[in-house]
Amino acid sequence: MKKLRCVKGMHDILPEDISKWHYIENSFRALVGRYRYEEIRTPILEPLDLFIRGIGETTDIVEKEMYAFSDKGNAQLALRPEGTASVIRAFLQNNLDSISTISKLYYIGPMFRRERPAKGRYRQFYQAGAELIGVEEPSADAEIIAMAVHFVETLGIENVTVQINSLGDEDTRPRYRQALVEYFSKLQDNLCTDCIRRLDTNPLRILDCKVTGCAKAGAEAPSVLDFLTRDSSQHFEKLQEYLSLYNISFNVAPGMVRGLDYYTRTIFEIQGAGELLGAQSTIVGGGRYNGLVKQLGGRETPTIGFAFGIERLLLLLGEGANHLKSNFAFVAGVGNGDVTRAIIVAEQLRRSGINVDVPYKQGSLRAQLKRADKSGAVVAIIAGEDEYCRNAVTLRNLKTGEQQEVHLDTLAEKIRELM
Ligand code: ATP
Ligand code: MG
Repeated sequence: MKKLRCVKGMHDILPEDISKWHYIENSFRALVGRYRYEEIRTPILEPLDLFIRGIGETTDIVEKEMYAFSDKGNAQLALRPEGTASVIRAFLQNNLDSISTISKLYYIGPMFRRERPAKGRYRQFYQAGAELIGVEEPSADAEIIAMAVHFVETLGIENVTVQINSLGDEDTRPRYRQALVEYFSKLQDNLCTDCIRRLDTNPLRILDCKVTGCAKAGAEAPSVLDFLTRDSSQHFEKLQEYLSLYNISFNVAPGMVRGLDYYTRTIFEIQGAGELLGAQSTIVGGGRYNGLVKQLGGRETPTIGFAFGIERLLLLLGEGANHLKSNFAFVAGVGNGDVTRAIIVAEQLRRSGINVDVPYKQGSLRAQLKRADKSGAVVAIIAGEDEYCRNAVTLRNLKTGEQQEVHLDTLAEKIRELM
């Protein structure tokens, strides 16, 4: 029978790679914890309407990339394509604003977008993200960006650049939109069919189009920064002052708009260097979305957040994190009743906090030691009949081949020294 395969663009994460995932997830948890963010876990499946209302009907995600379907009861559902809309839905549904005026939340989990798979671009991918809900001040924007930058630094990833921009507020949007329509209308011959349609539906999205002709046409487009209100302008300047306080270097990128409709004021990206990422250079995307809470039925609430693509971080980590696998011991037995003794010794060691493997079935010592070595164990414990009568075992360093008899009482301690 033909073997079944997982869905195109989706991947199994195998044990040989999982230590890197744990490393990234644990580092993220530790880092955002230091800024006092707490984890929130929301369902992977949400009402389709949440994303249509939250992300915007004319965004690429909603138009083309969403896994949406009706279930057997005809409920319109979607696999979440990103985390923010779900977090805000949960924030509202659970009245988190009644507990505290400021909510600091983070999440880690799989997201789903039906994109064309490529290096660093998958149909199920993982994001880690954080949201700071309830603070209007640019100090919040700076903290969010600083946290993202510090996280990348914690992982030892170098040569990243930080791009920031401001999309202004509700006063900016219509005026900037008008300016873009005027500008791009003259360049229609150079635009792809999607972007010609976007001229009517969502001209801002043209600046986000990756098609060469559109990118070229957009290069000389009016700058959103010329359309900022005084308040938004001051917010953006203050943010830059704070970023200097955090010692973060950044570029102002007036052409950057990001792919979601909900952004207001600050948006930012962190880009990684070169070939490791293929065509996908953005590892972190984020920004302020002051309109989203209201859009989803709550009171107007200032909010800012970011999300990382974990797979893209992994591409940049390379082999560097391989040493993170945890060490373990292997208990081999010899003679009669060998597996029994192996199980007893192994269990004693596990209770002392040591990771231990056993052979499961009887076999020659040579075969068992070979297995221990091949499995990557650091030490082997030979629980032979003679030593065992003396409440002792033989401890073998699998790297050097050195052996010594060790009393069971001090065994865990001795193993720890060798690990
Ligand atoms: P891109 O421009 O690469 O499509 P995006 O603007 O759609 O990114 P966001 O929605 O802001 O990305 O998501 C934040 C991060 O999530 C991205 O910077 C990236 O690291 C990661 N990401 C987004 N889409 C994918 C995907 N299909 N596969 C893997 N990672 C992804
Ligand atoms: Mg995208």
